This record gives sequence, C-alpha cells and structure tokens, in this order.
Amino acid sequence: MKRTDLAELGEFGLIERIKSKVTTSQPSTVYGIGDDAAVIDSGSHYTLISTDMLLEGIHFDLSYTPLRHLGYKSIAVNVSDIAAMNGIPKQVTVSIGLSNRFSVEAIDELYEGILSACKNYNIDLVGGDTTSSQSGLVISVTAIGEVAKEAVAYRKGAKANDVLCVTGDLGAAYFGLQILEREKQVFLENPNMKPDLIEHEYLVGRQLKPEGRTDVIHELKEKNVVPTSMIDVSDGLASEILHLSQHSGCGFSVFVDNLPIENKTLLMANEFKMSPITAVVNGGEDYELLMTISQQDYELVKSIPEITPIGFVTKEKNNILVTNSGEHVPITAQGWNHLTTQK
Ligand code: ADP
Ligand code: MG
Repeated sequence: MKRTDLAELGEFGLIERIKSKVTTSQPSTVYGIGDDAAVIDSGSHYTLISTDMLLEGIHFDLSYTPLRHLGYKSIAVNVSDIAAMNGIPKQVTVSIGLSNRFSVEAIDELYEGILSACKNYNIDLVGGDTTSSQSGLVISVTAIGEVAKEAVAYRKGAKANDVLCVTGDLGAAYFGLQILEREKQVFLENPNMKPDLIEHEYLVGRQLKPEGRTDVIHELKEKNVVPTSMIDVSDGLASEILHLSQHSGCGFSVFVDNLPIENKTLLMANEFKMSPITAVVNGGEDYELLMTISQQDYELVKSIPEITPIGFVTKEKNNILVTNSGEHVPITAQGWNHLTTQK
C-alpha cells in the first residue's frame, strides 16, 4: 500500500482529511470539525467545546518556561478558542501525561498556574485524566463554553465591505520566543551568565503568559454587536486570514500601516534584523481576536480601544497586504506548520 508522508498533507490537510471521513448524526451537533470550537445545541443556548494539547519539546521548552506560566497558558489558549466563537468559557477538564522526572512540587506549581487562570476567567475545573508519559510533559485541556444562539460567530460569515478588525497588538509573542531562545543559547554556552529577561518583560510575557480576550467578548455584548466572522490569532495573521477567506468565500485587503504593533516589538525586530511585519504575518501565539464587523456595527465598536481596524472584506477571493507605498503583496503563508519540522 502507498505510504504518504504526513508532511505532504501538513496539519491543515490532515485535519481536512479526517473531516472528510466524518459525518454527524446527532440533531444537537450544530457545527463539528473546522472552527475554533464545536457548537452543540443545548436548548436555551449553544454549548461550545474546544480542545488543545501542549507537548514538551513541541509547544514549550521547560528550560525557560516556568510550570506556573505553562499551566496558565494551557487554560488561556482554550479560553481564546471559546472567545473566538463569541462565547464565554465556563468549565475545563485538564489531562496530564508525566514521568517521574517531575516532583510533586513541580506538578503543584503547574496547577497553581492552571487554577490561577481558572480564577481569572471564572472557570470551574471539573475533571481530566492523569497518565504516564515517555516523551515529556503533555497537557491537554478541553474547554466548555456558552454563547447565545443568535450571537455565535463562526469563521464563515464575513461579507464584502465588512471591516476587518483585530484586538490588542500583534507580533510580540514571536519576539518573546526569540528572546527566550537567544538567552537559552547564551546560558548553554556560558552557564554563569544570568538571562536578562526583566528588560524584555512585555515581549517575554506575551509568549509565556498570553490572555484569552474574553474582555472584548463582554464589550461586544455590551454594544450589542455580533461579528460577522471571527477566529483567534494563534498561528499568525496570514494563516487566520486565509481561514476566514476560505470559510467565508471572500477576500481580504489588509493595510500594513494599520497593523497594531507595540513599540517594544518594533525595537526588537530591529535588534533581530527582521521585519516586524513578518513576525505579525507569519509568527504566532498572539491569541488576539481577528473579526469582521459590518460597517453599521463598526460605528458602535470603534470607541473600544482594544479593537483596531486593519482592512476590509472584498468580494473577490484575493487576500492582499497593502504596503504603505501602495504595493499589493499576496497573503499566502500557511502559518506555523509543526508537521514539517518533525521527524
Ligand atoms: P485551533 O488552532 O483554533 O485550535 P485547529 O487548527 O487545532 O484549531 O483545529 C481546527 C479544527 O479541526 C477544530 O474544529 C478542531 O476541533 C478540529 N480538529 C483538529 N484535530 C482534529 C482531530 N485529530 N480529529 C478531529 N478534529 C480535529
Ligand atoms: Mg483557534
């Protein structure tokens, strides 16, 4: 039988392949594979379910990731996927795979972070699973959330002339990771050197301790605005725009000048001799929300400081970055493809 390399399909191709084999039969399954969370009809509202797995050596490096932060992040990334459906998380289950390399105190620390996030987002931890692992620490979190039926936001639904908006700022988490990797190399070469991370607290914090934007979900609700489409920015702007484009059947024009980038990110891009735009477009782990809002509703949300308009939706399925000199650059990147980097 033919053997196809996983790298040939890539992560998204593989998910598509699995999806193509799946049919759903429960009337309560409103939306299955393909969005940030599954949507289940619970009668009075929709229940949202999202799951994410973090693996040591793939998603985190324990030589510079404090377990407390890791615990916090494992919850925050799931909160982000529930928020991307315009929902609020209510419960989580947390499953861990570990070896005796970890002490009881280390796992206590991990759970300090998990519980601190649960407290922050007002989520109940209601279960999980514990198993041994031969390949380092594994953390798998499933989040359960709620959204009013008329308020659910999918990756599909963007319409021509809608305003493309993003929350917070982009690109910082990418440089946070570059700094951590750089300091790790310095430390490996000279263990007496102490990493100077305080100076880069913002960028490193964006990588180690991201937040899911439930604050923005509450603000949208207050203004009575439902985005026409939404996704969270976990793999870089390009990848998320292509998802919205594919699901909604339209295109996007993004103005480089409008991209929200912190000064600290710009300075670090300069230090690394890298374009900050590349970090925004192809980096990852910002966990901001990318959404489209009708022109009419945009008037209601433009006063929300966390929301920045960065472009608009076009009828043609062309996705382009418009540079400040007016150049049109096609958006093609596929985000971070973990599968191509694995043996
Ligand atoms: P996100 O980055 O928002 O977490 P993913 O790219 O991980 O989204 O997943 C996209 C969609 O594919 C989601 O609906 C997810 O539930 C689904 N999915 C991912 N892996 C699998 C799998 N192995 N089996 C079934 N569905 C999957
Ligand atoms: Mg997502």
